[in-house]
Amino acid sequence: MKITGVKVYQVDLPLCEGNYSWSEGKSVDVFDSTVVQVDTDAGISGFGEVCPLGPAYLPAYAVGARTGIQELAPQLVGDDPTQLQTLNIKMDRVMKGHPYVKSAIDMACWDILGKAAGMPVCTLLGGRYGEDVVLYRAISQRPAAEMAENVSGYRAEGYRRFQLKVGGKPDDDIDRIRAVREILQPSDKLVADANTGWLMHEAMRVVNAVRDVDVYIEQPCSTYDQCLSIRRNTNLPFVLDEVIDSVAAILKGASDHAMDVVNIKISKFGGLTKARQARDLCVSLGIAMTLEDSWGGDIITAAISHLAHSTPTEFLFTSTDFNSYVTTSIADGAPHRLNGRMSASTEPGLGIRPKFEVLGDPIWEC
Ligand code: MG
Repeated sequence: MKITGVKVYQVDLPLCEGNYSWSEGKSVDVFDSTVVQVDTDAGISGFGEVCPLGPAYLPAYAVGARTGIQELAPQLVGDDPTQLQTLNIKMDRVMKGHPYVKSAIDMACWDILGKAAGMPVCTLLGGRYGEDVVLYRAISQRPAAEMAENVSGYRAEGYRRFQLKVGGKPDDDIDRIRAVREILQPSDKLVADANTGWLMHEAMRVVNAVRDVDVYIEQPCSTYDQCLSIRRNTNLPFVLDEVIDSVAAILKGASDHAMDVVNIKISKFGGLTKARQARDLCVSLGIAMTLEDSWGGDIITAAISHLAHSTPTEFLFTSTDFNSYVTTSIADGAPHRLNGRMSASTEPGLGIRPKFEVLGDPIWEC
């Protein structure tokens, strides 16, 4: 099978809550998402999506995804989309870095492989564990009482795991963590994600102030070494996210006992091929994971569901249904949350059918 062409679509995904806010006053109102269609000489087309969390979260931004794809995609025409490892090595050879540029292309090629094989992507990624996968709800940064109220509302919808966006002023964050934990049940899980927003002295103040609270601390500071310093001075369970962007970073973290859980985002690693490799490494090392992406709509949610559903249940800390955060649906067949859980499609490939009336005409093609 050969790639005959690539199309790029741009779509705006407004947030149901109006905006999403996290550390240091960062905020997004409308997500700028990019959908990629990879066409083949077998008459099969595959679809992928990439949606950075604005330009200030990871070294990635929406227009950069599209210009990168325009640089890279013409060099893949004629290559076999079902040879995923070969394709990834080629992408890394012709473009250094920029994992988020490669993510949607790789995702679309997994969709093609699944359609060609007549199997869902989750089977090809290793198998299907259980009926469904557990989700968390990210709670946008607001005053403490408002966040507690939002958690209460999402809990009523079935979620049992919550990720509070902290990384603000330490005193406010201490209030946020305490106010939310108070309204949860003992079996509920709470994560305080600072998204690199604290300096070390601020992080130490927060972890000391909530030492008696059942809460996980996620990515308190900017660098790996700063996070490791906090990790070594707290007994709270610890999650690393932004600094975990490669197999090498996972191996270093495991060797230093730097975390209990890692967050693997598909586009942070460069696609499903590399996220799968990272996932399998974590399973081998005994490290639990949050499996997700930076953001996205129905296609990314479908890709996340296949990666999460093909992960041994005890290693899946949480996953995300991003399509429920936004007002716009871009594909049929994507998973929809039921009681705080979702399951991967049993259809071939990702199991999604893009809504071209929503995507509009391609903004670029080769
Ligand atoms: Mg995080």
